[in-house]
Amino acid sequence: MTALGEIIRGMIRDDGPMPLDRYMALCLGHPEHGYYVTRDPLGAKGDFTTSPEISQIFGELIGVWVAQVWEALGSPRRFALIELGPGRGTLMADMLRVLAKVEACAKAVEVHFVETSPTLRAEQQARVPKATWHHALASLPAQPSIIIANEFFDALPIRQFERKDGRVFERVIGLSGEALEVGLVPSAMELRMRGEGIFEDQSLRVAVAREMADQIATQGGAALVIDYGHVRTAFGDTLQAMHKHRYVPVTEQPGEADITSHVDFEALGRACVVEGAQVAGLMTQGDFLNAMGLEARTEVLSRTIEGEARTNLVAASERLAHPDQMGHLFKVMAVTSAGLAPPYPFGAR
Ligand code: SAH
Repeated sequence: MTALGEIIRGMIRDDGPMPLDRYMALCLGHPEHGYYVTRDPLGAKGDFTTSPEISQIFGELIGVWVAQVWEALGSPRRFALIELGPGRGTLMADMLRVLAKVEACAKAVEVHFVETSPTLRAEQQARVPKATWHHALASLPAQPSIIIANEFFDALPIRQFERKDGRVFERVIGLSGEALEVGLVPSAMELRMRGEGIFEDQSLRVAVAREMADQIATQGGAALVIDYGHVRTAFGDTLQAMHKHRYVPVTEQPGEADITSHVDFEALGRACVVEGAQVAGLMTQGDFLNAMGLEARTEVLSRTIEGEARTNLVAASERLAHPDQMGHLFKVMAVTSAGLAPPYPFGAR
């Protein structure tokens, strides 16, 4: 059992079974033993790899998208480029390299990071020294805003409810002897779903999506949310834990494994509309990257390198966009302030 596992066991002994959102929040964010607090989890040596860590082209194409939105906003003399959960800062560094080519845009941009992990803040600072850090969205500046969130919402805690034999239960973390175990406790939750099965309650994600949309609706701008998940609210258990690039049971290594779940884009989109923003579109990561010029950029870049590096570059692009890899499971949702036409490639077809 991990050190955090011991602590959680003590909490359950004292207070009874623990809802999954509390468990996830402790596993990822416990001030001493939390997963994101104690390490940089990204890359080959870590537990998982994200799109910006796979290829620089990912961030470059999003940089092109940002420059285009900035123009559509009327090329404001100052704007906030905000990233939620920026990891190592790689995506931002890749975007800024592209923005540097659009002089007025490069002059106008002010970088803001929303990040809770001190370890990852240090990584971000190493790659993007000129930035402002925030613990939450509440302190974001009053400026036209372009917000990017890649694999951020999947790390925000969820709860799970299950209808079984006509009754509703909450799925919780309890004890089986000395070990942590997922169990069921009766719940008064009213489920909208029909039939039996598991429903993932994303209230916390929805609350953050509303803050994001509020920033855009009141300041003007757009957001790009990229994550793995489903287009429509779906049912079933998608909670997963990853350690050293392998799936492990969610109860096995609290604080030592990454815990995430599929993002319910329908629920996030609805939340944005409630705040007065509009959902400009939702497409697969593959369609988005291809429309933004993935193939051409890969081709241009591959001419500058040879041998294994070239093979790796082509493979990386394929990994990002191929339907059997990240191209289909990952989705891209664009949110804009009222009055802004859906930025390319949304609404382009
Ligand atoms: N976007 C990066 C990293 C994804 S990992 C990439 O694509 O590589 C998730 C990121 O969200 C990490 O930076 C983590 O520290 C941050 N994070 C997780 N929960 C958070 C919270 N509640 N508030 C702010 N940041 C959070």
